[in-house]
Amino acid sequence: VISSAVELASQLVKIDTVNPPGQEAIAARLIADRLTGLGAAIELHELSPGRESLIARYSGNGGKPALCLSGHLDTVPIGVAKWSRNPHCGDIEDDRLWGRGSTDMKGGIAAMVVAFERLCRRGGDQPVLLALTASEETGCQGALSIAAKMGPVGALVIGEPTNEDLAIAHKGVVWLRLKSLGRAAHGSKPELGDNAIERMIVALTATRKLDFKVDAHPMLGRPSSNIGTIAGGAATNIVPDMCEATIDIRLVPGLDVTAVMSEIKHIVGSDVEIAHILALNAVQSRADHPWIASVNADAQRICGAHPTPTSASFFTDASVLVPALGYPPTAIIGPGNPALAHQVDEWCSVSAIDRAADLYEQIGLKWNLSPKCQKQIEEVR
Ligand SMILES: [Zn+2]
Repeated sequence: VISSAVELASQLVKIDTVNPPGQEAIAARLIADRLTGLGAAIELHELSPGRESLIARYSGNGGKPALCLSGHLDTVPIGVAKWSRNPHCGDIEDDRLWGRGSTDMKGGIAAMVVAFERLCRRGGDQPVLLALTASEETGCQGALSIAAKMGPVGALVIGEPTNEDLAIAHKGVVWLRLKSLGRAAHGSKPELGDNAIERMIVALTATRKLDFKVDAHPMLGRPSSNIGTIAGGAATNIVPDMCEATIDIRLVPGLDVTAVMSEIKHIVGSDVEIAHILALNAVQSRADHPWIASVNADAQRICGAHPTPTSASFFTDASVLVPALGYPPTAIIGPGNPALAHQVDEWCSVSAIDRAADLYEQIGLKWNLSPKCQKQIEEVR
């Protein structure tokens, strides 16, 4: 017998939301239709034509900050390597759901939708919010576009694949594009030109001296910087008039995105242009926070999670949502092995999807039933 959550996960895998172009509206509307009639207010927010994020609010009678369950509707591309199955097959065999997005993160989304449905039917008196975003994979644009519309949020669950272990931290990321301009000349007379690649070499070498001035983070280690791409020059015998490079910087909590970007601008100087492609904050919640401890206990009991909270190796919508929502405690936990995300022949454990639905429901029930936990959350914040 296939559960409601697994059936929905399979339906979602069959919908192509590869980003780009995304086309998340098809998945968002399928879920919106499904949630109609449960007493939840449903909003679709357009990012661009064909791309929509969904917010569903079950407000209860409490008028308190909501518990927010959140995930992204888009997936990464299929890739060039050959799959052994159609990437959008959504086949369920034994304990496996196959296809792009099964792990990252349509399994988690389906579990959240089903948990939200159950919570609506139970009719508790604390608000629960379901926020499903477009365009997370290319830099959390959907989350950015809906963050201000979500209203007060007291705690956030991100259903990304963590093998059902609780992650409470991940790195932030800054991607920069550097561009240097020069003047072309014949390669036999370089003194007549201005070499854009040489300018770039000086700038990139300077970035290697970037000192982040932070201690190693106990979970995430050191911040890092990597020169990812470089391109420039038209032919061996021409002085290049243009060069472009990109840098991938990973930040730990305590480092501010804006401060790091301005430090790099300072180091590199005015010889090259700098534009940011992506800038997302690091995320961290306290392991001893009462709500985090409560989620961790439920995750161990329901999912067999590791007792010690861990960190995620990827970034999530939490980078955008956590600061926008005023730093609510944030639990990143969901079905699926993160090592299978973005891979050929992606699959997700079907029983893990069911356990995650039970876990999210349980987190919602506790949100409803524990005024003490609520009070502690407010005090800690
Ligand atoms: Zn993801």
